[in-house]
Amino acid sequence: MHVIYGGTFDPVHHGHLRLAIELRECLGVSEISLVPCHIPPHRGSTSASSAQRLKLLQLAIADEAGLVVDDRELTRQGASFTADTLRQLREELGAQEPLVMVVGTDAFAGFDRWRDWQRIPQLAHVVVVKRPGPELDPEGVPAKLLRDHGVSAADQLHRAPCGYFLELNPPLLDISATGIRERIRSGRSPRYLLPDPVWREIRCLGLYGACPDGNF
Ligand code: ATP
Repeated sequence: MHVIYGGTFDPVHHGHLRLAIELRECLGVSEISLVPCHIPPHRGSTSASSAQRLKLLQLAIADEAGLVVDDRELTRQGASFTADTLRQLREELGAQEPLVMVVGTDAFAGFDRWRDWQRIPQLAHVVVVKRPGPELDPEGVPAKLLRDHGVSAADQLHRAPCGYFLELNPPLLDISATGIRERIRSGRSPRYLLPDPVWREIRCLGLYGACPDGNF
């Protein structure tokens, strides 16, 4: 079974990495693919470039054999549409291999506004990770998909290539990339919120307003 977990990872932090480990264990796979997405150039001038975000991710997982980075969305021109990524992966994996995409409840709430969303369950299973925040609208399409195509256990995902929705409620660390960028910008330390090699590289490149000579 192939599992992808996408995000901007600007920068990657321990909240992302812990979730990836929880997913690997609870989905019963040996590897999770982290898929950094392309960010349109107009989104905030202090954000790291694609190449920088990729470098930070590679540093973050260097010691962890069960996590890999898939940079296909960064090398594709223009916006990243999940359906395109899944279509490409499905071609590579063949028709029978189970394919899973992971999404937080916040993003899943707008699932029926994603480009080609109806195609997604024909290509992959969707694992929805519960995050703090508003519940899904019970009348909306995402809640209906969970009701009509939901499964209650991860092992069911191994028995079909695509089409199921599974809601998970793993322990989550209260860390956000936005909070880390704000800390750095205001001269506070983000240490222990993200791996040390990532913080070292952020300082080295002067990302998010970090001072390259800072010694914390
Ligand atoms: P930002 O603050 O810039 O919005 P973020 O920290 O929320 O960033 P993203 O890169 O946008 O991180 O998120 C990638 C994926 O990781 C999303 O599916 C998001 O729901 C999830 N995620 C983000 N933070 C955490 C966390 N602390 N624990 C678990 N999952 C998280």
